[in-house]
Amino acid sequence: MSGFNKENNPEKTLDLFNKMKNDGIQANVVIYLCLIKALSRIGDYSISISIIKQMPDSFFHDNQIQTALIDMWGKIGYMDKAKEIFEKNLQTDQAMHNSMIHGYGLNGKSVEAIQHYHRLPKDFIDEITNISVLNACSHSGLIDEACSIFQSIRNKTETIYSAMIDCFSRGSFFEEAQKLIDEYEHSHPPSVSMYMALLSGARNEKNIHLSKIVYNRMKKIFPAEQNALIPAAVLLANVYGSLGENNKASEIRIQLEKLRSKHKKRVGLAWASVNGQVFKFRAHDESHPRANEIYAEAEKISEEIVKHGHIYDSSWVTRPLNPDETIASVLCGHSERLAIAWCFLENPNAKRIHVAKNLRICGDCHRATKLIAAIRECEIIVRDAHRIHHFYTNGQCSCNDYF
Ligand SMILES: [Zn+2]
Ligand SMILES: [Zn+2]
Repeated sequence: MSGFNKENNPEKTLDLFNKMKNDGIQANVVIYLCLIKALSRIGDYSISISIIKQMPDSFFHDNQIQTALIDMWGKIGYMDKAKEIFEKNLQTDQAMHNSMIHGYGLNGKSVEAIQHYHRLPKDFIDEITNISVLNACSHSGLIDEACSIFQSIRNKTETIYSAMIDCFSRGSFFEEAQKLIDEYEHSHPPSVSMYMALLSGARNEKNIHLSKIVYNRMKKIFPAEQNALIPAAVLLANVYGSLGENNKASEIRIQLEKLRSKHKKRVGLAWASVNGQVFKFRAHDESHPRANEIYAEAEKISEEIVKHGHIYDSSWVTRPLNPDETIASVLCGHSERLAIAWCFLENPNAKRIHVAKNLRICGDCHRATKLIAAIRECEIIVRDAHRIHHFYTNGQCSCNDYF
């Protein structure tokens, strides 16, 4: 089970659990820890409930299980359930506090994250606590709060610096971000993640001048680190694309394809479930038995959103198009779009859909999903690599487009 989890196959962990049950094998705490991890990856409320119900009562008193459950409910988007477990527990430990703060941050409840942080005794705060609270501030643009927390941290590690730089960059405080990078580099070698934070801030603002400076600087400082230069080049191409400079953007994308063929690509994966069945979609997946119908449904959704004013945003296409592709067909093939189409195909009157994703949601999928939730009158909850997006039926997202 642990192997399946590590390989991004949480649905197989659940299958194995069902097989165990059929074979009459009793599950112990370790197995439930694996299951809870798989459930937090899949991100579906009803499947999680049905598995947790089967857990023997005595396991609920186990510290590791409690922490794992708090973490899981936070990741699925149910902080009230996480809080319930947390408050029932008289002997809370560091890991539980960290899971609470992290969960608040994921769900955009930064004020709660900060309050929880300030209530903690000093010896309960470690590097993870600090990073979680800074990320929570960062996702909601609470820069003053982040600054004062950052100042109070004695042992500032590379990751803590990066979190603060990310916070400044997301808020477009680029000078402050640069100052912190300088301060850090005074006594340390340069860090890739700090430059990536600065670059994605510049991308969000469509600031081509700064994007170019940062990208060129990265090429100079980290010439051998292709794993960092590839995503950096994607961001730079995004900026050109969003400014309509498509020639420059495709020039970079062609160079990128060459680089990528030598490196492992990170594939977009999305999990969704219908009637207790979990399915994992890859981008442009055709492996589902109802693939043809899923693509037809995706097409139908696409027509609906276009009718409601959606314009496909080519800046989120990160590779050259194949001859049989269009901007729309590439974007509609993103894993979360297919997962959403499948949910509507199986259940046209769905009122709530859960999708979990391994990468960050792209700007086009974010705009499209807001419209889909409104048109189909269905709440859609997407957890991506950074946070949870609640798309409400009024066409708004809980992140207020700050992601
Ligand atoms: Zn997308
Ligand atoms: Zn959002």
